[in-house]
Amino acid sequence: IFPPEVLAVSTNVQLFERAQQSIPGGVNSPVRAFRAVGGTPRFIARAEGPYMWDAEGQRYIDYIGSWGPMILGHGHPAVLEAVLAAAREGFSFGAPTEREVELAEAIIAQVPSIEQVRLVSSGTEAGMTAIRLARGATGRSKIIKFEGCYHGHADALLVKAGSGLATFGHPTSAGVPPEVVQHTLVLEYNNLEQIEAAFQAQGHEIACVMIEPIAGNMNFVRASVPFVKRIRELCDQYGALFVFDEVMTGFRVALGSAQSVYARALPGFAPDISVFGKVIGGGMPLAAFGSSRKIMQNLAPLGGVYQAGTLSGNPVATACGLATLREITKPGFFEGLSAKTQTLRQGLDEAAKAAGVAWSSDHEGGMFGFFFTDSLPQNYATVMATDKERFNRFFHAMLDRGVYLAPALYEAGFVSAAHSEADIAATVAAARESFASL
Ligand code: PMP
Repeated sequence: IFPPEVLAVSTNVQLFERAQQSIPGGVNSPVRAFRAVGGTPRFIARAEGPYMWDAEGQRYIDYIGSWGPMILGHGHPAVLEAVLAAAREGFSFGAPTEREVELAEAIIAQVPSIEQVRLVSSGTEAGMTAIRLARGATGRSKIIKFEGCYHGHADALLVKAGSGLATFGHPTSAGVPPEVVQHTLVLEYNNLEQIEAAFQAQGHEIACVMIEPIAGNMNFVRASVPFVKRIRELCDQYGALFVFDEVMTGFRVALGSAQSVYARALPGFAPDISVFGKVIGGGMPLAAFGSSRKIMQNLAPLGGVYQAGTLSGNPVATACGLATLREITKPGFFEGLSAKTQTLRQGLDEAAKAAGVAWSSDHEGGMFGFFFTDSLPQNYATVMATDKERFNRFFHAMLDRGVYLAPALYEAGFVSAAHSEADIAATVAAARESFASL
C-alpha cells in the first residue's frame, strides 16, 4: 500500500526534507525543528527505557523524555500492558468511564490543595481553562503572568511584557489581536517590587496570578520562597486566585508536585488552582486542572464556565496515566529518581569544573537545568544573557556522542527511572569530551 520510496530507509536529512513538503517547518511543534541549535532534527523510529533510536539506527540516551512525561522511561512493561488492555476495550466512548474517576482520585490523593479535577487532552487546554475558571469564579478580567513562563498557546497567554511596569502586554504571536491580551499583565519572575506595585495599582481587578513555580520553559529557574509567599499573601488580600502551572513540575519534581516543595518551606502553603499535564498522562495526550470543590462547581454542567472535549478523559490515555501514577507512588520512587538526577548533576558539575567552564546547575526530583554561567539565573533576562553559542556547541557535541539534551538553552532536562548508573556515567564521560571540545 506504500510507494517503495516510503519503505526505503531514509536518513534524517531526507526525512526532514520530505517532512517540510507536507508539514510547515517539517514539525508539529516548533522546538523540534532544531531552529535554536541549528542542524537536522533526528527522526525517532523507536524508544525503549532511557534510549531512543533515530531513523538511521543511531542510539541516544534521552534526557527529554517527550518533554517530561516519560518519567518511567519508554515502554515501561506495566504501562504498556495497561495501554494495550485498554485499547482492546475501546479507544474512545464519549461517555464517562470508571477509569477517569480512578485517575481523578489518584491525582487528588497526592495533591492536598485540590478536591476535584477535570481531565482534558493538553496542557494548553488545561491552562486556558484554568484562566477561564479563575475569571468566572472571581468575576474579574485581569490576569498576571511572568516573563519566561509558558502556559501553552492560548491567545491570552502568548504575551510579552509591555514597555513599562503595570502596562499590559504585547502579543508574542501573529494572529493574536492586542485587544485579546489587553487584560494580561506580564511581570518579571522573582521580582517582588513589580508584583507589589501591580497589586497596589489594580489588585481588585486581578482574577489570578499564574506561575510556573519551578519554571521549565526558561531552562530551570525556581520562584524564590519569599516571592511565592508574597504572591500568596497578595492574592488573599485582594481576592485573586493563585494558579500553579504544574504541567511540567507536576508528579515530576516530587510526588506532591512543586506545591509540596514550597509547602515544606511555607507550612500550609497551597495554590488555589493547579494545572497538570505530561506525567499524569505517561506519554498519552492527557492533562488536567483542579481546585477546591467550591471553585470547580463553577464549571459546566454545574456552573456557567464552559469547557468540554470529545477526547477528554480518553480511556487509553487514562489507562496510561493511571499505570504511570501507580509506579511512581511506590515507596522510594522519588528518592531514587532524585538521587539519580543528583548524580548526573554532580558529574556534569565536576566535568565542567575540571574543564574550567563557567557553569551552574540545579535540579528538583527528576527535572534539571544547567547554564553556562557561574551563578543561577533568577529570571528570563538573565537566562537569555547566558552563553547561547557555547550551549549550542555543547548540545551538538553531546548529540554526536549519543546524548540527547533539549535542543534549546531555555528548556529543562528530565531524568527517568530507567536511566541506569551506567547511562549516567556514559553521559558524564560524553560531557567531559564535549567540554574539552568547546
Ligand atoms: N504549561 C507548561 C509549564 C508547559 O511546560 C507546557 C508544555 N511544555 C504547557 C503548559 C502546554 O502543554 P501542552 O504542550 O501539552 O499544550
